[in-house]
Amino acid sequence: MTHPGLTDRFGRVHRDLRISLTDRCSLRCTYCMPAEGVQWLQRDTMLTTDEIVRVARVAVDMGINEIRLTGGEPLLRADVVDVVDRLSNLRGPAGHPELSVTTNALRLPALADKLHDAGLKRVNVSLDTLRRDRFIELTRRDKLTETLAGIAAAEAAGLTPIKINAVAMRGVNDDEVVDLTQFCVDRSYQMRFIEQMPLDPGHTWDRKEMVTGEEILAQLTQRWTLTERGDRGAAPAQVWDIDGGPSSVGVIASVTAPFCGTCDRVRLTADGQLRACLFARQESDIRGLLRDGSDDEALADAIAACLQLKRPGHDIDNPDFLQPDRPMSAIGG
Ligand code: SAM
Ligand code: SF4
Repeated sequence: MTHPGLTDRFGRVHRDLRISLTDRCSLRCTYCMPAEGVQWLQRDTMLTTDEIVRVARVAVDMGINEIRLTGGEPLLRADVVDVVDRLSNLRGPAGHPELSVTTNALRLPALADKLHDAGLKRVNVSLDTLRRDRFIELTRRDKLTETLAGIAAAEAAGLTPIKINAVAMRGVNDDEVVDLTQFCVDRSYQMRFIEQMPLDPGHTWDRKEMVTGEEILAQLTQRWTLTERGDRGAAPAQVWDIDGGPSSVGVIASVTAPFCGTCDRVRLTADGQLRACLFARQESDIRGLLRDGSDDEALADAIAACLQLKRPGHDIDNPDFLQPDRPMSAIGG
């Protein structure tokens, strides 16, 4: 190989590939998608399952050892069980990649067992509120009961440890920090609060309005004694033990405490564009290579070249910061 593999210009070695299986979704979370008028990706631009597996195989051969399926809502992809089966059977220098899914949980009652049997290890579920009225406001769909059923199905299927993700929003759900955490403590799930990032379709994100990780921690410490865990490696969440453990809670402070210096993630969109960062302004066209007869070495070169474009940080605080053109649902969170 003539390229530097998965190491970028700043010495960051990439191990985690996030694959968006579709930009379609069954919810319309306000921070992620518009209520209507979504510009869907054209069907013929979306990667086939063979194409996804081929890119993943090349990436795993290069050293990727973790694959996260995301979207949009990844479980809306009709052949998602087959995708999981094929990806979990890949093998690279570090063995089989660990496979997880980030999901809104709505299809888990139907799919959890099949996904587990196909090789899925665990799920991250988005749950921003435990109150039905708020759930409707936040996701623009009346699906809280179904979401909770999906989480229970994942647990029953052994897709554990279950992580619950919530984006904290001022005046919307920031008074549920303790309730959401208690919900997880009671069930041995791991709660993760995420600072809202400027990836919303309306471009209304406002740094001054954002609920910070510090504010979240302040609420949690009123209720529990938190002990910070040590080295988090490349993980985006800083984790605290709750009352000495084993329960824990994490905060993903992407905006106020960026972890770009240890980032090991790279993203493949459903239409075959590789992004070295959520906030990248440049994409590398992998779909073109997949469809023009290029060989695996050319694919590996393109993956390596994409990582060479990765900048040291996301620059959200820079006055020249520009939000990416794609909303989060079309990037893959
Ligand atoms: N549909 C799946 C879900 O909701 O888990 C997977 C895709 S979703 C885009 C992945 C994650 O991105 C979710 O945890 C969601 O809360 C998060 N997300 C979406 N928009 C965000 C934003 N503007 N800021 C921070 N997190 C965001
Ligand atoms: Fe759909 Fe997930 Fe975006 Fe919500 S956060 S609209 S569930 S893709």
